[in-house]
This record gives sequence, structure tokens and C-alpha cells, in this order.
Amino acid sequence: MTNSNRLKIIDTHCHLEEPEFAVDSDEVIQRAARLGVHMITSAIREDTWDRALVISASHDSVSVALGLDPDLYHQIHSAMDFIKVKREQLIALGEVGLDHYRERNHKKREDQEKSFRLMIELAKEIDLPLQVHSRSAGRKALETLTNMEARNVQMHAFDGKASLARVASTEHGYYFSIPTSVVRSAQKRKLVKAVDIERILVETDSPVLGPVRESRNEPMNVWVALREVASILKREEEEMRDILLENTLRLYPGIRTK
Ligand SMILES: [Zn+2]
Repeated sequence: MTNSNRLKIIDTHCHLEEPEFAVDSDEVIQRAARLGVHMITSAIREDTWDRALVISASHDSVSVALGLDPDLYHQIHSAMDFIKVKREQLIALGEVGLDHYRERNHKKREDQEKSFRLMIELAKEIDLPLQVHSRSAGRKALETLTNMEARNVQMHAFDGKASLARVASTEHGYYFSIPTSVVRSAQKRKLVKAVDIERILVETDSPVLGPVRESRNEPMNVWVALREVASILKREEEEMRDILLENTLRLYPGIRTK
């Protein structure tokens, strides 16, 4: 146990409190932690918030973010109240955002937007970084964030245009986390090349977005994302790891002390 406990890489976005990990979350976390992975788990429903807090409290290698699924905008006020109460236990607010892929109805998209705006305000008020979901709504999400002058933003699994990510990372300093699915996605490979290297993070989004479609993903696979990013940018793995760790700790300085 010489180097194995040292912090080496951070899976900036996963969902350890989801039912897919109900049986073996401890083993999943330990497998990742043994490989030097610290995890940020992001709980997005009322019925999983407490479980995420318990997981984080019982594992030094797990930090917690609380947010709300974009489709659950009717719960926005109870979510905001809960987040305020738990503020001191949180590393981030999220994920929150827009999902135009799942929601086609105009009125309901407006509801998503309203609740997203409230969460952006709250993140500023309680001074937490934001983890943002923006499926088929990349441009709209970025517009909303920049119009509201949101700071300390992580765009997770961004599926929008690479040119938008380039501007958001260079001009607004927004971070973009590259998921494990980068190994099978031309769009994500393009994203890696477009984002300012100082703003790249990695994530797994476990249990989804794994290297192999349809099979359960887990945080130890964040190394797969790192290797792919290094190869796309033609960097040594060790150098890329240093850059990613530095980027992540710039956005989440709280992880250092845990
Ligand atoms: Zn997610």
C-alpha cells in the first residue's frame, strides 16, 4: 500500500446512488479507490439524495453533488431548500440543466429553463460550482449560463457543437468533462480537440456512457477516458493526468482537504 492510496485522478461525475449500484456500491467504490480514483457522485432525485450523502460520508474517496433531473421541475422548490440545508456537505450543485432530447413540448421546455435559472442563481448565492446537463440543448444551456454570468461551470457529456465548447472554454472559462464513451464517439473526440486544454476534465457518468454500449459503467473506467484523451491530444498519459488533476482541483478545491 505505498502509492495506491494517493489521489491520482478524479471521476468528476457519476451516479453511485442509482439502483444499478444498490447491491455492490461499496465494492465498486473500493475498486476505483484502489486505482487512485476520487469520485464526485451527483444525485438528481429526491429519493436518491440521502443515499448519496450517506455514501459520501462513509467513503473518503467520494464527494457529493446534489441536483435535479431537468424533467422534475415541479420539485424545484423542495430541491432548492434541501440543497441549502446540506450546503456544507456538498462539493457542487448538480447536475441540473436542460434536456430537449427527452422533452419536446414547448411549455415543458420553458419549465426546464425556469428551474435551470433558479438553480444557477442558487449556485451563485451559496457559492458552489455547477454541474450542467445539456442534452440536445447545448447552445441554449450555454446561452442561459453566460447571460446569467454563471461562474465555475462544468458542462458534463456535452453533445453540442465543438465550436460552442471552444468559445465557452476559452472566453468564459467553462470546464467540459469528457465521458468514457469518448472511445466510441466521434463527437466527443472532436470535443476533446476543441476545448481549451486547461478546461478539460474526465468523467464516467456511471452507470451509463461506458466504453462498451449498454454495459454498466463504473468509476474505475475513468482511466479509459484519460488514456483516450491523452491519445487524441498526443500527450503522454502521465502528463495528461497531471493536467486533468490540476484542472479538476482548480474547479473543486474542496477535494484537496477531504
Ligand atoms: Zn449524469
